[in-house]
Amino acid sequence: NLSDKLQRSFKTLRGQGTITDENVSDALREIRLALLESDVNLEVVKSLMERIREQAMGARVATALSPSEQIVKIVADELTNVLGKDTARFKFASQPPTVILMAGLQGSGKTTTSGKLAQWLKKGGHRPMLVSVDVYRPAAREQLAIVARATGANLYEGKLDPGTTPGTPEVLRLAKEARRDAANFGCDILIVDTAGRLGIDTALMDEMSELKKLLNPSEILFVADAMTGQDAVNSAKAFNDLLAITGAVLTKMDGDARGGAALSIRQVTGAPIKFLGTGEKPDAFEAFHPDRIVSRIMGMGDIATLLERAEEKLDRGKAETFAKKALSGEGFTLEDFREQLRQIKKMGSMKSILKMLPSVGPFAGMAQAAENVDEGQFTRIESIINSMTNKERHNADLINGSRRKRIAAGSGTSVQEVNNLLRQYGQMSKMFKSMGGGGGMKAQQRMMS
Ligand code: GDP
Ligand code: MG
Repeated sequence: NLSDKLQRSFKTLRGQGTITDENVSDALREIRLALLESDVNLEVVKSLMERIREQAMGARVATALSPSEQIVKIVADELTNVLGKDTARFKFASQPPTVILMAGLQGSGKTTTSGKLAQWLKKGGHRPMLVSVDVYRPAAREQLAIVARATGANLYEGKLDPGTTPGTPEVLRLAKEARRDAANFGCDILIVDTAGRLGIDTALMDEMSELKKLLNPSEILFVADAMTGQDAVNSAKAFNDLLAITGAVLTKMDGDARGGAALSIRQVTGAPIKFLGTGEKPDAFEAFHPDRIVSRIMGMGDIATLLERAEEKLDRGKAETFAKKALSGEGFTLEDFREQLRQIKKMGSMKSILKMLPSVGPFAGMAQAAENVDEGQFTRIESIINSMTNKERHNADLINGSRRKRIAAGSGTSVQEVNNLLRQYGQMSKMFKSMGGGGGMKAQQRMMS
């Protein structure tokens, strides 16, 4: 991905004493390649490189930083310039309901994102209502109904007139009814999920224009599948030319999208990226913070997001009880161990957690580890512990050979895996006990040093 590739190009400069025309040219060539290979639009790469080159040449006088540090800083600054310095704000209408029009090609994630957005707005104290105006595919409207149920958002179902062929007049009628319904129900936000096509076509575009004219939306969000790279940029441009989008949502950022789409869409449309989709579930959704993304791209991690996630998902009381127990002479049981696993799982996939750590300094190699992490491992460990009796969970010494066989069979794992888990548990438990000897504070300090 972009991050790895940039890291590699910075390495070229590491250990060089000064910035010279020659070593800068080498590094710039690699940075250019890294951007292109990450699906950043050619025009965008050109203008980025021009500015990076200019600054790199001018930077020779500033000597406090090493050449590689200088280039890293310049590239980070320029990427931030492209993405915008500040987190984009969400616009609300002065007269409710605020209308959000979702735009994008079929399969880009409009329906899923509509649900995620509803959930996000609900968390912020709003009362969103969802409506699908995809009159062409009954399954599409049904899909939104399922999403609405899952997130507990209101839905305007409406009825299609069986006497007419589905078309734009029906779409407009549904939209109008939904807006009235939202107002009547005291919903302050109406999210309009629209039909998509496999490619841009005039019928689709005309319909979107009509919807815009009718609804005067505060937000027109272009939903783009980050995995489609360059294609997403082209359709973003087409939608923007016609509708003047107010922002973009990049979905499927949990896959191995190469990340360049974010830079290109912002540069080509001028509209800010407002949200990222990071999975299929309703809460796999985050507001887009340009500085954090640049930090991720540059391999400096995204500790801010990680802490927010921990704050939101973890049970502080449980964590403290665990720490106290583990560090006291009492030690922790397999039951406690299972609870800790469950807490960590709540924060998201192991891969997504590891990816937010810096890939430089003490965490070097973590990004690599993230690629190889076995997500199933957690689940297997949990099912091993589930297959133990309550007594066994509280006294691991009980678990002899025949019990291990039973547990392996019960959890669908192998005796070897059960052995591994018990060994790990034994080691951890010993480690915690030895740390706890000197009291909590000291133990914590020892963990930090
Ligand atoms: P639409 O045709 O634009 O409404 O797209 P959908 O919302 O139906 O999404 C198409 C597919 O992409 C579905 O299978 C979704 O579950 C999936 N999807 C949407 N957003 C994400 C995301 O952020 N990550 C992943 N992994 N899948 C997503
Ligand atoms: Mg849809």
